[in-house]
Formats: sequence, C-alpha cells, structure tokens
Amino acid sequence: EPVVETADLTRVYRSATGETYALRGVDLVLLPGSLTVVAGPSGSGKSSLLTLLSARERPSAGELRVLGSDVAGASAGLLRRLRHRRIGYVPQRASTGLFPHLTAGDHVRQVAAWRGDRHADVHAVLDAVGLAPRAGHRPATMSGGEQQRLAVAMALVARPALVVADEPTAELDHAHADRVLDALAVAAEEGSAVVLSSHDPRVTERAGRLLRLRDGVLSSETAQSQETVAVI
Ligand code: ADP
Ligand code: ADP
Repeated sequence: EPVVETADLTRVYRSATGETYALRGVDLVLLPGSLTVVAGPSGSGKSSLLTLLSARERPSAGELRVLGSDVAGASAGLLRRLRHRRIGYVPQRASTGLFPHLTAGDHVRQVAAWRGDRHADVHAVLDAVGLAPRAGHRPATMSGGEQQRLAVAMALVARPALVVADEPTAELDHAHADRVLDALAVAAEEGSAVVLSSHDPRVTERAGRLLRLRDGVLSSETAQSQETVAVI
C-alpha cells in the first residue's frame, strides 16, 4: 500500500502578473520503508512538491493521495489531523515552526502527544540528532543549525508513517548533516516513507532513490543500489 501516490500532479501559482507552473504532471509513488531525495536547482519546484506531499496544500490539478486520503477532496480538519498524527514535516526554515516559550524537549513531547504517543523516548530522539545537551533550551538560545535539528527530532518522534523534510541539512556542518541523514535513514529502515529535498551532493549520494526536478517536471530518476553502474 503506497504512502503517497500522485498522478499528473500540478501546482500553479496565480497572481496579478500571471501564472507560474511550479509543478507539472508529476507522477510519483512513495512506499513504506523508502528514502527518496528530490534534487534540483533553486526554483525547480522542490518546496512546492514537498508542501503537497505533506498535505499542507491542495493540488491545482491532478491526483494526490496521502496515507489513503484524497488531498484535493479532504476537509481542512481531516488534513490537519493527518499532518499532526501521521506526517513528520521539517520546514525549510525551521524557526517558523518553533514556539518561543517551549524548550527543545517540550517541542518533541508536544509533537509526540499529537501522534498519540505519550511514552515516546524524547531523550533518544534528541540524542539521535545531537541535541540531548540542549533539551532544556528554548529556541531563542539555539543556533539556526540547532533549530533545524530540533525540527528533525520533532518530525521523527513516534515514527510517523510519512516524513517530509525540506532541505533538512541546509544549515548544518558536515558532521551534523551526517547525523541527521543517519536518523532519517533509520526512520526509513523502520518503515516510514521518508522524502527530502536537497541540492547537496553529500545528501543525494545517500538517497535510496534520487529524483530530479527541473522547471516543475520530474525529469529523471536513478535507483541507487549496492551495485554501482558507471555511466560515462
Ligand atoms: P524550489 O523549492 O526548488 O526552490 P519552489 O517550489 O520554491 O522551488 O518554487 C517553484 C516555482 O514556483 C518558482 O518559480 C517560484 O518562484 C514559484 N513559487 C513558489 N512559491 C510561490 C508563491 N507562493 N507564489 C508565487 N510563486 C511561487
Ligand atoms: P498546523 O497546526 O495547521 O499543521 P503548522 O503547520 O503551522 O499548522 O503547525 C505549527 C508548527 O507545529 C509547525 O510549524 C511545526 O513546528 C509543528 N509541526 C506541525 N506539523 C508538524 C509535523 N507534522 N511534524 C513536526 N512538526 C510539526
């Protein structure tokens, strides 16, 4: 049973000055236990795609099924429940999703509660992204990279079926980026469908499956495996 299924997925932004096709005709299936990286230059549609896959927006045209729900037809309340209970999401700018009065530990506990898991091991999740020593800190005293890792911990706690991460290593140094990628890979090994965007080669080389977006079109796909195929 696919976690996400799209057919001819299209996203158009309309404004007074015209329309922008951010995505055109995207066909995509995400299965449980998969790690997918969406690569592509700035403006190619990565954020637009991840926003749709995480049920935060509705498609302009085409089909989008997320965790069994038709996103175009579902009520706002259903989509919100879906997001809170079953989808982990790392926004491109982590600070937008953080609450000034809550500590890092509170954030993770709060999200675990949304997911119906009051016994989640908050310390273990923070430790997985190297934030255990920061558990008692509030966002104002955390660096951008720490906030980004906190957003990853929130996305992963209580093992949501779908994890969507928009450039989750953008603000991280090499060592912390590796740690975050390890944590995302573990979630995929444990059965989540994990999809992230990046234009960092260090990230794309670790993809189980690599998709490329160009001008809103999913232009090529590489299935990477242990057997390396040299293309010259
Ligand atoms: P990426 O994440 O790869 O940088 P985006 O999905 O952010 O790409 O953007 C894809 C295209 O859609 C770009 O041309 C961008 O300018 C446009 N776009 C994105 N969001 C909006 C918006 N809210 N209003 C108008 N155009 C937008
Ligand atoms: P909504 O409650 O309608 O989903 P938001 O997406 O703005 O509204 O949620 C508020 C904040 O809660 C987010 O910015 C984010 O920090 C956190 N959050 C929301 N959904 C998730 C999620 N699925 N996984 C992790 N954190 C989330």
